[in-house]
Amino acid sequence: MTKKLIRGRTLTFLARPHGIDDHASFRYEEDGALLIDEGRILRAASFEDLKEAAADCEIVDHRPHLILPGFIDTHAHFPQMQVIASYGAELLDWLNNYTFPEEMRFADSDHAARIASFFLDELLRQGTTTVAAYCSVHPESADALFAAACERDMCVIAGKVMMDRNAPEALTDTPQTSYDDTKELIRRWHGQSRCLYAITPRFAITSTPEQLEAAGALVREHPDLHVQTHLSENHAEIDFTMSLYPQAKDYTGIYEDYGLLTPRTLLGHCIHLSEREADIISETGSVAVFCPTSNLFLGSGLFDYQRYRRREKPLRMATATDVGGGTNYSMLRTMDEAYKVIALNGEKLDPLGSFWQMTRGNAEALSLADEIGTLEEGTTADLVVLDSSAVPAMSVRMERVSTLAEELFVLQTLGDDRAVVETYVAGKPVKGELNGQSGLGA
Ligand SMILES: [Zn+2]
Repeated sequence: MTKKLIRGRTLTFLARPHGIDDHASFRYEEDGALLIDEGRILRAASFEDLKEAAADCEIVDHRPHLILPGFIDTHAHFPQMQVIASYGAELLDWLNNYTFPEEMRFADSDHAARIASFFLDELLRQGTTTVAAYCSVHPESADALFAAACERDMCVIAGKVMMDRNAPEALTDTPQTSYDDTKELIRRWHGQSRCLYAITPRFAITSTPEQLEAAGALVREHPDLHVQTHLSENHAEIDFTMSLYPQAKDYTGIYEDYGLLTPRTLLGHCIHLSEREADIISETGSVAVFCPTSNLFLGSGLFDYQRYRRREKPLRMATATDVGGGTNYSMLRTMDEAYKVIALNGEKLDPLGSFWQMTRGNAEALSLADEIGTLEEGTTADLVVLDSSAVPAMSVRMERVSTLAEELFVLQTLGDDRAVVETYVAGKPVKGELNGQSGLGA
């Protein structure tokens, strides 16, 4: 592969910003460039510094657009593309009425392959280059998503859900089959291309104690793997969960008891945590995943991001779409809603903190910041190119913008896939190609 030089206004975060004036938290080059070789960032500097090194390279000039690390979505359900935007339910009814019937379709490999392609292409259109995704209970659904990830050379974390009760017969496995199928999928996919397997008990309601035992065994046998599950999303869910595990101290205590809380555990939602639960999550280094559009759409509650960050034992946190409980595939739209949820808790999240979160912050939450989420030399060239004046309403707003932080806030508040000019996966531009294809016939 030949080297290439990508030129534009480059922005990468070095650390979590402490407020809107924290200029030491990021590196910004007004005329920056990335020298890309074999899918990796070989050098990141000003165009002036790199132009000699790039004398014989293809130069892609994205000025005046911003070049950032690709966005990272830390919680989504790929089998829910055809139930996103379903009316009128809270969590448990939403699962029973819409999601479970839909997920039954993923026993069919052809259907799973078709939706897996749509899912990853939609994320790429939105500038998202890495996702942590739930598949259905069927191993075929995980095969489909990982195969689609390999085709695109995307860093995808995923797993088949383990669920052996409180779901339709056609969607349940058993403690033994869920263990065996997960083992086989780990063998087949973990470390293939950029695929990473996540042990995925859906949540305590749909797992018997025996199945959580099996999940705990998988975690002990594969301590380097991610674990993903749901925790404390809404009150009816919490009550039902505690009725199923009456001996547990609390909801978090269930996962604690089965050894599921590790620094690689992603806990979707974490809205209604007690202080003890937050302490345990902090002590184990597990990650609380904030899914604002989903929490608003399903009426689940307001994730208290700033309090979780500031408490004596702070939580590691990530943000995510939670499609299809969430209502948008875009991390820009997601962080706009995050801002509003945080505002309802009487706080603000500044735009530097917000863009840190959806890039380096989410990479750190996945323990993958050495590989993705920054423009550091040696990392994979997963990039998003953003146009802050993509549509007339943004363009006219930009006439009043004078700082980078203001520009980022406009992008977050008004931006969506139209602001994504290009997405690069391992140095390869992919969005232009997606825009050229007709889609539904595929
Ligand atoms: Zn979810």
